[in-house]
Amino acid sequence: WAALSHPDDLEESDRLLEEHFAGKTDYYEYEARMKHKDGRWIWVHDRGKVIERDSEGRAVRMYGTHADITVKKDLEEKIRELAIRDPLTGIYNRRYLFERLEGIRAECGRKGRSFCVSIFDIDHFKAINDTYGHIAGDVVLKEFAGLVASMVRTYDLVGRFGGEEFIVVSPDSSGQDIAGMTERILDKVRRTVFAHEKQKMRFTFSGGIACSNEVSGDPPSVEELLALADKRLYEAKAEGRDRCKWT
Ligand code: GH3
Ligand code: MG
Ligand code: MG
Repeated sequence: WAALSHPDDLEESDRLLEEHFAGKTDYYEYEARMKHKDGRWIWVHDRGKVIERDSEGRAVRMYGTHADITVKKDLEEKIRELAIRDPLTGIYNRRYLFERLEGIRAECGRKGRSFCVSIFDIDHFKAINDTYGHIAGDVVLKEFAGLVASMVRTYDLVGRFGGEEFIVVSPDSSGQDIAGMTERILDKVRRTVFAHEKQKMRFTFSGGIACSNEVSGDPPSVEELLALADKRLYEAKAEGRDRCKWT
């Protein structure tokens, strides 16, 4: 049994077993991965109970069950993914991003560090839909989301804010850091030709960046931060688009 258990799960399952052998728990129960005969890892729900002890109280015999719960585990994972991701682009959805934003805000507050929120909005996106069709528009949204996600830093979070607007939350960073990063993304998008069927599409986007140390509150107010990022996005649009504003 131990040889077939996933090494990452064995430590905790051993701990729980020892606890039960020592009489600290009424039964043993754990969900662990085990190697199936066909070579893949499956999830197993283990339950066991000691039914015989020797004169010194040491466990001699136990019985229990192994139930294959792989389907249940896979469904749980699928449900979790559905709950946190935007179905079209695969990046985080708005609700999940806001949930995480709360955590980042509290943590940065505790550590005395600043974080940034950026809103990116595709320029003249309506024209892409009108010219190439709604499906091509969807392709642009997917490609753009993937491109942004691939160009942010490891700990930055990228989500779909709604429609053709995206949000990036960047922990432990200054406005200047994120402006530099956004300039690189602007440049990449400017130079990329996006293809759908035989159509070749080009577009640009605009961004507004706001940093937590620019707004009031401890921890800083998310509403104010978003309003500031949105105001700067509006200014970037007004000044000719294809640019980001961070001051
Ligand atoms: P601006 O440069 O000022 O941002 O202009 P815009 O055309 O990008 O902005 P506007 O808000 O006028 O248009 C956004 C369009 O995005 C309108 C809407 O039909 C389209 N849209 C929103 N969600 C989706 C989607 O999921 N798929 C597609 N294909 N289009 C979408
Ligand atoms: Mg918009
Ligand atoms: Mg737009």
